[in-house]
Amino acid sequence: MRTKLVVGNWKMNGNLDQNQALLNAVVAGTRELQNVKCAVCPPYPYLAEVQRTLENTHILWGAQNVSQFDLGAYTGEVAAEMLLDFSCHYVIVGHSERRSLFGEDNHTVAEKFKKVQDKGLTPILCVGETLAQREIGETERIIEEQLDAVIKLVGVDSLVKSVIAYEPVWAIGTGKTATPSQAQGVHLFIRNKIAKQSETTANGIQILYGGSVKSNNAGELFSMPDIDGGLIGGASLVASDFISICLAA
Ligand code: PGA
Repeated sequence: MRTKLVVGNWKMNGNLDQNQALLNAVVAGTRELQNVKCAVCPPYPYLAEVQRTLENTHILWGAQNVSQFDLGAYTGEVAAEMLLDFSCHYVIVGHSERRSLFGEDNHTVAEKFKKVQDKGLTPILCVGETLAQREIGETERIIEEQLDAVIKLVGVDSLVKSVIAYEPVWAIGTGKTATPSQAQGVHLFIRNKIAKQSETTANGIQILYGGSVKSNNAGELFSMPDIDGGLIGGASLVASDFISICLAA
């Protein structure tokens, strides 16, 4: 049995006061949860606040991005090593917004994945197709390429210490959710692909769904056999919504 995981991706939102209220509410509202892990990924400047607020609670935290480089002359970048100072557990890599708006290609994403694992942190690797790619039947090929770039660099066995998030680009922030069976189909494809190389890794890896998960669709999505939780954007900013989604897992 894989543990369910629900991760809030705050994206570029929040401020010190709002974060504090949101975190306190989420801690209180998820206290009774069993067999579900919850985590939040704030913007970098708030990691210290999140660390201070969440240490000694049941909620984990992580970063939304990381540099593919080690410490050095890389203005504006944040190294994986720095995230250790804030006791991060997770680091999101390859989010579609990073890929499409900031030009991250499969190879860069794979390098980031490796840096995260080299420091003992757990990468959450995002994969997913655009609407145009889905419409011409390219979904599986695109996802396979995204996964293969990582497998080529770190080997399939490394995936066991990672999380995969399937996020169809057309469902992110659009209010259009993949149907549970559409999502399940892709999750199964991912698991079967990994199983061809390592059955143990395939059985153990958590595969999250992301893309307009809300309190009214989370339960149905999370009940699918290969959906192990969610990566939540917009709804992770509203305490009551995020709590309901965690409770649905
Ligand atoms: P959304 O974002 O829940 O707002 O669609 C999900 C994500 O981008 O991780």
